[in-house]
Amino acid sequence: MRSGILLLVSGPSGSGKSTLCRRLESEGAADFSVSCTTRPPREGEVDGREYHFLDRDEFARRVDAGEFLEHAEVHSNFYGTLRSEVVGRLAAGRDVVMDIDVQGASQVRACQDPVIRTALVDLFVMPPDERELEARLTGRGTDSAEVIALRLRNAIEETSHWPEYSYRLLSTTREEDYTRFKALLVAERLRVSRIQKS
Ligand code: 5GP
Repeated sequence: MRSGILLLVSGPSGSGKSTLCRRLESEGAADFSVSCTTRPPREGEVDGREYHFLDRDEFARRVDAGEFLEHAEVHSNFYGTLRSEVVGRLAAGRDVVMDIDVQGASQVRACQDPVIRTALVDLFVMPPDERELEARLTGRGTDSAEVIALRLRNAIEETSHWPEYSYRLLSTTREEDYTRFKALLVAERLRVSRIQKS
């Protein structure tokens, strides 16, 4: 028996981090922590699956009630991780993967809760270079040139935070990225500090 791993993943839009997190979940290797957000759902997004979609009042109420492990404003919307998505699962030995921004990551790193401290593994996923990132953002075909330029600027700023993380994955291909991502989780499962002795 061992306690669960909290695999915290950050990275700019276009790094491929969401795909990595969702694939881990779809294989049953970890539970995905579904965040709350005040941004409206995109086409195809389902409440409770991609996010818990809340209005700003409800989000603020939950902040006041201390329900969030971390929360932050990202691109003019609020995002937050509910403690209830994470803590019980870790104690039950489940591994949890979370996709959160650099501000949220620094709050989780500063968290004093021993369950979180023992569980935490933080990883920054970064695109190989600016040119490839631009190609990936453009390749989605859904955004205007202006939006792409803004995302690119944001991505470059976000990428400067990678030294704050314990692990960094420099993205190459989807398959190669996933192999290394999964290898990190598999290795962390061997850590003595999470194994119950006796
Ligand atoms: P999107 O709106 O494109 O799904 O996500 C925008 C950004 O918000 C991404 O960088 C994502 O990692 C971040 N994000 C998603 N959920 C959370 C959360 O619960 N907390 C924080 N701090 N950031 C989040």
